[in-house]
Amino acid sequence: MQNISTCDRKALDELHSTLKVRYSSLQHLKLNLNIARGVPSPEQVELSDDLLSLPGAADFMSADGVDVRNYMGQQGLREVRALFSESMEISPENLVVDGNSSLALMYDCVSHAWRAGVNGGTPWHRVRGGVAFLCPVPGYDRHFSICEAFGIRMIPVPMHADGPDVEFVRDAVAGDESIKGMWCVPKYSNPTGATYSESKIRALASMRTAADDFRLFWDNAYWLHHLTDEAVQIANVVALCEEYGNENRPLVFGSTSKITFAGAGLSMLGSSRENIRWWLRHASVRSVGPDKVNQLRHLRFLRNSDGLKALMQRHKELLAPRFGIVERNFRRLLEGTGVASWTQPKGGYFITLNVLHGTAKRVVELSKQAGVTLTPAGAPFPGGIDPTDSVLRIAPSSLAVDDVGQAAEVVAVSALLAAAELRLRQLAE
Ligand code: PMP
Repeated sequence: MQNISTCDRKALDELHSTLKVRYSSLQHLKLNLNIARGVPSPEQVELSDDLLSLPGAADFMSADGVDVRNYMGQQGLREVRALFSESMEISPENLVVDGNSSLALMYDCVSHAWRAGVNGGTPWHRVRGGVAFLCPVPGYDRHFSICEAFGIRMIPVPMHADGPDVEFVRDAVAGDESIKGMWCVPKYSNPTGATYSESKIRALASMRTAADDFRLFWDNAYWLHHLTDEAVQIANVVALCEEYGNENRPLVFGSTSKITFAGAGLSMLGSSRENIRWWLRHASVRSVGPDKVNQLRHLRFLRNSDGLKALMQRHKELLAPRFGIVERNFRRLLEGTGVASWTQPKGGYFITLNVLHGTAKRVVELSKQAGVTLTPAGAPFPGGIDPTDSVLRIAPSSLAVDDVGQAAEVVAVSALLAAAELRLRQLAE
């Protein structure tokens, strides 16, 4: 394929016609494929089907003698906290295991801080002039939705392959007391797959913040979700924050949504003792304890850290081929065309496809008209506005493996066609 950015008018006309033919042949396939969200495939959730018959009719006492059928136990069963403690590198005393959604835990943390403040600080809703969060972009749209729901101002932070621009972050938090939080997906991030380097994590742990109640919302959603044998490790933010005397800074989140059942897993919150006490105090107003039957069921199923790792290996075997197919198709169709680049994540659930500036919305539209649903363009940005209209999030996990190639081809051909259309318009001006 020629380089669309540099070819002359005649070559561009020819290319545009060829692409239109190719695109309409894809339309004739009448596809109906969705690569919008990081949903596990049916084969992936099936890996945990044994959970459906656990813990079993006679199994309702925890190792500590807690009857899981009853109320209480706000922090979660101790042995289940111990199960996640090793891989999350947070002691069981500093962990909470809760219901099925870590996003709900994040929402609750913002909500408690909003209503009651953080560890004795001013409730965020009473801060004159409002509060703000730093938002590395592109980022996770549901984080931004939480900010929108509370009216929290969002400050975009440029994101690099090794984490956010920490110079920008340092300057911002040092000079602005209204900045109370920062969203971070430190490993295999949504949507670029980037992983924070140790030096960046150190910078975030050690930086001086004008707000005493500044919190890193450390969403480690993909801490075990490797796509290669490399099993990337990141620095321990809880230990580093402690080292710099900022032990209350990190709120670490995780869940088994993409380990066991996305709709019926467990969520985790890890932090300092003081923050855990803060969370427990407010959580106990909201509920009389989590679903401990589900916690016991998970313990019986996963057993220990090795059980967790073995299950993640099986997820990798299902996911990695899908990511490989997208990569091969993008390379085959887009390499050398000058209109697209894409990430090659070592884990997580997403590939970011960067298309020609000004064409992302059109690519989503063209893909949709050829039967492939993508995340709306702009979704990975605060307010849903991508200033360059160029970033697309690709989530191939939920497709049948035989469909991934066609979905990737539709997106790639749509990216080429949208680029050719834009170039033709520019040449006509
Ligand atoms: N955080 C990130 C970064 C995610 O990508 C997702 C799921 N797409 C979630 C949180 C949601 O997690 P949960 O199912 O535990 O609420």
